[in-house]
Amino acid sequence: MLTTGPRGTKDILPDTSGHWQYVEKTIREVCRNFAYHEIRTPIFEHTELFLRGIGETTDIVEKEMYTFTDRGKRNITLRPENTASVVRSYLENKLYAGPQPTKLFYIGPMFRYDRPQAGRYRQFHQFGIEAIGAHGPTIDAEIISLAVELLNKLGLNELKLLINSVGCPECRPVYRTKLQEFFRDKVSHLCSDCQSRYDRNPMRILDCKNETCAEHSQGAPHMVDCLCSDCSNHFTGLKDLLTAAGISFVLNPRLVRGLDYYTKTAFEIQYSPLGAQSAVCGGGRYDGLIAECGGQPTPGIGFAIGIERVLLALEKQELLPFINNAIDVFVAPLGAETQAASFELLTELRHAGIAADMDFMNRSLKAQMKYANKYPAKFVALIGQDELAQNKVMLKNMETGSQNLIDRAELVHMIIEEMEK
Ligand code: AMP
Repeated sequence: MLTTGPRGTKDILPDTSGHWQYVEKTIREVCRNFAYHEIRTPIFEHTELFLRGIGETTDIVEKEMYTFTDRGKRNITLRPENTASVVRSYLENKLYAGPQPTKLFYIGPMFRYDRPQAGRYRQFHQFGIEAIGAHGPTIDAEIISLAVELLNKLGLNELKLLINSVGCPECRPVYRTKLQEFFRDKVSHLCSDCQSRYDRNPMRILDCKNETCAEHSQGAPHMVDCLCSDCSNHFTGLKDLLTAAGISFVLNPRLVRGLDYYTKTAFEIQYSPLGAQSAVCGGGRYDGLIAECGGQPTPGIGFAIGIERVLLALEKQELLPFINNAIDVFVAPLGAETQAASFELLTELRHAGIAADMDFMNRSLKAQMKYANKYPAKFVALIGQDELAQNKVMLKNMETGSQNLIDRAELVHMIIEEMEK
């Protein structure tokens, strides 16, 4: 137990943390380019927020939340996603009083009691966007193009963008009735989850992964054929904008959310080389969510991208960059008496902005050279008894092999000059 982490969790070790930093840096560049600003919310919230903000009939709330009572008897949940927290923060901090729309992004860990497998974990990380305050389809097109731009910039090009409209509280009840009529004589053949969805949330039957349910939903009516004029115009507007931006898409009537506060646009981006867990991005409009969480009726739209899945895709396509852990100088003390002078030199080099390390293991000269080579280090600064006595340093250029005895006082300056060459 003590030497094994909880199921579904993963350590990000030094040999891969550079890949995470690369993806995060690219995210930050794209967000800056699109004028989205970072928000960081706590990783736990009152459970009530997620019951409201995600919906009590969703799989996340019904089966996947990490919920506990804290020592003050509060009901707390580790965030399974970040939209509800962002909306809570938007209301609590009155972000609606600032420039509109409010354009936010986040990067961080999420927690779901999911069945762990490749690309599916219990602690995983999402990058997400929330754009709050704008009604029209242009902002929908903007966030979709941001997601595509990011994935393309990372080198992922075989993307499949699926879009749908889930309507609004005006047109959805009509569709819901049609759907229930369609499934009426099929209910007994559906899985137990879908049998309870039939009354509570029939649209969710459409995205059930169970094969029998999928078979029985063949030929079901489509929401896009039942949209009111406002939703229909919005959807047409989005398709026109995506076409104008050169972003190809496929209509997928099975892409649903089915809760009242999810409205209009729903989308997903798949990267098929990933196989079973091919969804890298999921998003949609939530025009009813802010009012549901206690704010004034305010439109919003967002998406979340799974960072582990993006990294898996980059690894698969050999698109991960080489992680450079090289240093400029390795300080090599020879003997206990030279430790202090070596540490002083190391400190001075670091103060000057030079990446440096030294031997802490009392290695032999040969072993130190081997270690420095492995790093790799550009220079080795050797301080033995003679060098110490003469106030000098033996500087070895590891690339050329040349070796020079340098005055200690000149060393830092000299290295800076060498580095600038
Ligand atoms: P969702 O919040 O469920 O719409 O998921 C958005 C994205 O997060 C998905 O497309 C996945 O890339 C990623 N994701 C969701 N659940 C997990 C999980 N358990 N493990 C890893 N990635 C996940």
